[in-house]
Amino acid sequence: MRIDLHTHSTHSDGTDAPAALVDAALAAGLDVVALTDHDVMSGWDEAIMAARAIGITVVPGVEISCERDGRSVHLLAYLVDPHDAALLAELDLARSSRATRLTRMVDLLAAGGIPITQDQVAAQVPPGATPGRPHVADALVAAGVVATRDEAFRRWLADDSPYYVRHYAPDPAAAVALVRGAGGVPVLAHPLAARRGVAPTLALVEELAPLGLAGVEADHPDHDAAARRAVRAAARHTGVFVTGSSDYHGTGKRVRIGAERTDPDALAAIEALGTGSAVARP
Ligand code: AMP
Ligand code: ZN
Ligand code: FE
Ligand code: FE
Repeated sequence: MRIDLHTHSTHSDGTDAPAALVDAALAAGLDVVALTDHDVMSGWDEAIMAARAIGITVVPGVEISCERDGRSVHLLAYLVDPHDAALLAELDLARSSRATRLTRMVDLLAAGGIPITQDQVAAQVPPGATPGRPHVADALVAAGVVATRDEAFRRWLADDSPYYVRHYAPDPAAAVALVRGAGGVPVLAHPLAARRGVAPTLALVEELAPLGLAGVEADHPDHDAAARRAVRAAARHTGVFVTGSSDYHGTGKRVRIGAERTDPDALAAIEALGTGSAVARP
């Protein structure tokens, strides 16, 4: 069974609509794909309907933006109740703060002489989508200022750039409680993804495991072999399972869907623990 548990659609900063994303998953030979847009669950219905029609399984999920010590931490949440009031309120807050923050970043970029306008950025955010820095990058690509999202991040959009603005995000410990409260299964995303100027750490796995963290991403495009081994060791030590996922963003990143995969045992653990919604099988 080929399983990819972390992907993004046009409901956040991916470039495939949910139906196109499940088509791509099938074409890549996957049996199971999770849709995990940033801070939003609005893509689930389209993904599940399209997946049923073509015969592939969907795990509904969401990637919650968290923050600890001024540093961004991503928590994947599978099988949450999409109507849980506390979870929805937190995601709403995150999305509205993201919108304000993107406006401020565009103001700073324009004031810094980078030729970009609010309208050009707004044109890159699909209606209802969670706005993010990749949409600013897309506007810069569309305007011919840079060639790729990656170039825009390298030049102006990284966390340590003078144009970076933070947005509201819950602490990861609070987010784990929120996810469990919504019947979901919390999995720490890419804990050792290299971010310039930041010392990657697995301390959060140790801290969050007793609070209900269920798993941690080991195989991820931003983890090298040593990072993957370190994550596996921390997972064994704390009793959480490991996952492997592409973090596919369509054409927004180079990685192909299904490039990293999760062991069926981890999916079984997710399904055994999650009570807020169900894995959608054809
Ligand atoms: P934000 O959520 O607005 O803070 O932006 C973070 C998003 O940007 C994440 O989804 C990352 O996957 C994406 N991202 C970070 N660095 C890059 C890069 N170099 N190229 C493309 N996307 C990136
Ligand atoms: Zn993203
Ligand atoms: Fe992430
Ligand atoms: Fe992601």
